[in-house]
Amino acid sequence: MASNKNLLMLPGDGIGPEVCVEVRKVLDWMDRRRAVSFDVSEDLVGGAAYDAHGAAISDATMDKAMAADAVLFGAVGGPQYDKLGWDVRPEAGLLRLRKEMDLFANLRPAVTFDALLDASTLKPEVIRGLDILIVRELTAGVYFGEPRGLQEWNGAERCIDTQAYTKAEIERVAEVAFDLARKRNSKVTSVEKANVMKTGVFWRETVTALHAAGGYSDIELGHMYADNCAMQLVRNPKQFDVIVTDNLFGDLLSDCAAMLTGSLGMLPSASLGAIDETGRRKALYEPVHGSAPDIAGQGKANPLAMLLSFAMALRYSFDLQEDADLVEQAVQDVLSAGKRTADILGAGETPISTAQMGDAVCEALDRRAA
Ligand code: NAD
Repeated sequence: MASNKNLLMLPGDGIGPEVCVEVRKVLDWMDRRRAVSFDVSEDLVGGAAYDAHGAAISDATMDKAMAADAVLFGAVGGPQYDKLGWDVRPEAGLLRLRKEMDLFANLRPAVTFDALLDASTLKPEVIRGLDILIVRELTAGVYFGEPRGLQEWNGAERCIDTQAYTKAEIERVAEVAFDLARKRNSKVTSVEKANVMKTGVFWRETVTALHAAGGYSDIELGHMYADNCAMQLVRNPKQFDVIVTDNLFGDLLSDCAAMLTGSLGMLPSASLGAIDETGRRKALYEPVHGSAPDIAGQGKANPLAMLLSFAMALRYSFDLQEDADLVEQAVQDVLSAGKRTADILGAGETPISTAQMGDAVCEALDRRAA
């Protein structure tokens, strides 16, 4: 039966294709056991696309991404591409996707798994039960502001970057944060440096005004300076529910929050665009990790970050909350049963392969759905 759920898989390079294979297993499981099917197409991105077309993503693939309900992205890059020009480097494929799909809200959950509490450098009581979501503005701010670059200044060289935000850019990412908080614990912490930055004052005023006028009185809104937020994330991270912040602070704080949970192989992410006239929101889901050339082709990659990214797609693009819960619970089950790939291995434990981890998740799904 034809499905109206359109998923584009872009496995990319290195371990990207290896972890995407494991998503295929879960897709097959859902088709078989949950009668949920997707129209899945697959295409090239990154170095793989460069090898085939001389570009990090072709126009035809870009068209497919624009038309898809969700894009599932593996990882790109590898040492063989490091000397290519910026415009054809593997990363250019991801940047083009982000830009043309206008993916302005980057969602990075930091959720701890009881079975992996020891993998964190923080004390178990600080992080047990942690479930926070960082919403980072992704398409504006100091990484894009003009003017930028080298200048002559009073007869000497200087270099500048520009932090710039329009009201609309702040409002749209804050709206995403408020809407997501409503489905969680209804608390948003907006983070900036209003004590020293004009854009910080503007950010705070804009978020406050939207909260008051946008119908968000059911959401508790707090404000925090970014430096304090970094401190609070390692002191008492469970005080947060949703954090919304700009591109630069989000970059730093999401990496900080990610490490509360331990391993790169466990971290999913989503990047969301605006809702279009048909009610659809463009979206791309990807693990936080890269293509890991050091372990590629060896069956060592942890596929859980990719599988959890897929769970985010089920939740945010397809509104399949129950199925997203099932996948996340299956991951918990597998970890609780002591199954570990090499990156999350404890002392004296034996690692399982990428494929065995994917199989274990499907077996756990079987048990959950029995
Ligand atoms: P990386 O995330 O690829 O790897 C860092 C370390 O973590 C490596 O030791 C790797 O083996 C390990 N690791 C990463 N993911 C893992 C997984 N799922 N399971 C087990 N171990 C895992 O970062 P890097 O080494 O800095 O970069 C390698 C390449 O990936 C570079 O070409 C870089 O540009 C690219 N990269 C791509 C993305 C992306 O596609 N979004 C993100 C980061 C880096």
